[in-house]
Amino acid sequence: MDTEFILRCVKAVQEAIDTHQADIESLDREIGDGDHLINITRGCAVVAAMEETLRPFPPDEVFIRIGKKLLSSIGGASGPLIASFFMAMGETLRKQGAEAITAATFAPAFAAGVAAIGQRGKAGLGEKTMLDVLIPVAQTFETLAVQGDTPALCQALRAEALKGMLGTKDMLATKGRAAFLGERAIGHIDPGSKSCQVAITAVCDTVEQAIGASTTDANAVA
Ligand code: ADP
Ligand code: MG
Repeated sequence: MDTEFILRCVKAVQEAIDTHQADIESLDREIGDGDHLINITRGCAVVAAMEETLRPFPPDEVFIRIGKKLLSSIGGASGPLIASFFMAMGETLRKQGAEAITAATFAPAFAAGVAAIGQRGKAGLGEKTMLDVLIPVAQTFETLAVQGDTPALCQALRAEALKGMLGTKDMLATKGRAAFLGERAIGHIDPGSKSCQVAITAVCDTVEQAIGASTTDANAVA
């Protein structure tokens, strides 16, 4: 994985959020305050606009810069949470100091990003938030990354994200705005879990396309 590949993923995530905007918006209207789509769309646009300034930097620096920018440019609960994800991911990659990022080196960085969200939001599994997608995806990623089967990894992460997102439907919210609704939030999917599932799916699809184009060097891409 290199900076060019990260920039491709940014575009893919932006397009996927666009495609699912009606779903995401209606979920936050049902159990939030209706601004989640605006926050996420702005975040994608801000990062996409950084393309030329990010291009000269290595991936760790790219993630840290994305995190810092998001911190100052998206609002809501999700803004600082997603910003801390990117900053922790970049800092972990920097500490690793690995020359090439592979699935095996990226998985712990992704997990550190997810842990940073949990710390900042003081939340964990089962609270009807984006973490119900991110925590199981991070765990599966760490388990499967070392096996070196990129297509199987992508398939498993997409499935885990989908399961986590759907699983929020029957949960009682104990964090975020939906917590104020008590039992009325039951029966609705958490909007943050939906946008994370859409983003993870888009990244997995982009990885698969990349290895399809270069089957000789599958692990270097993932
Ligand atoms: P706000 O709730 O301030 O309107 P957004 O609508 O952008 O912000 O984001 C809402 C999403 O943020 C929720 O759907 C949930 O997934 C996530 N979220 C809210 N609070 C937390 C928290 N403490 N920890 C993790 N995720 C959270
Ligand atoms: Mg909201």
